[in-house]
Amino acid sequence: MTGLLTPRWTSFPQRRNVHINDNVLHSAYEFGVQKVVSCLSTCIFPDKTTYPIDESMIHNGPPHSSNFGYSYAKRMIDVQNRGYFEQHGCRFTAVIPTNVFGPHDNYNIEDGHVLPGLIHKVYLAKKNGTALTVWGTGKPRRQFIYSLDLARLFLWVLREYDEVEPIILSVGEEDEVSIREAAESIVEAMDFKGELIFDTTKSDGQFKKTASNGKLRRCLPKFQFTPFKQAVKETCDWFNVHYDIARK
Ligand code: GDP
Repeated sequence: MTGLLTPRWTSFPQRRNVHINDNVLHSAYEFGVQKVVSCLSTCIFPDKTTYPIDESMIHNGPPHSSNFGYSYAKRMIDVQNRGYFEQHGCRFTAVIPTNVFGPHDNYNIEDGHVLPGLIHKVYLAKKNGTALTVWGTGKPRRQFIYSLDLARLFLWVLREYDEVEPIILSVGEEDEVSIREAAESIVEAMDFKGELIFDTTKSDGQFKKTASNGKLRRCLPKFQFTPFKQAVKETCDWFNVHYDIARK
């Protein structure tokens, strides 16, 4: 009986997101935690927007329908951070990284993100002497951030970034690359000689979500990002060496 009376929405994963966020922030408040850095995502920004997106635009309109509940749960972290600051003076803040990649990622072909997914596919294509299939047209554009660079920036945020307002952690707009360019970088790093096929029956997803790293640059003008090709090479090398233990 209980099952029948349980409304379906109680199992929404977004509901768990809301609970996790609220539990973490409220426990941090109760235990007097000095600083909390939560992680938002560029997919929470308004679907209809101008580019580049910046930190002031988070709440400016509904998110993309594919991320609706997740995005609002994430946006509420920013609302709560402001509330805890206004009412209790807490230094809780949030960062907004763009597409992260690097060693120890999820390399599952079905549910991993594009770079780890393609690295795994190239590995198998090389081993089996088959073509590499890239989903979609290859035209969408993304700003990729290397996980080691992001880790360095997280530590800086934890130690020195003093604002409650979120900060975008990303390479510049000029470093945005197309999915085709990203795939070609992997092909080069893995020394894959086979054919590339673009499967246009698969979705391209959002065409772009270009984010401004202007605020980060004003705070940290000298920060050096690992060049994309070098970071891809290091990631591919890690995957090749750790194939047996990689999450896939
Ligand atoms: P998103 O930024 O959240 O959309 O992140 P994804 O990492 O899932 O990247 C999506 C883009 O990469 C879309 O344009 C996909 O069509 C394209 N893509 C091409 N090949 C792959 C692949 O093997 N795996 C994934 N996840 N995306 C791919």
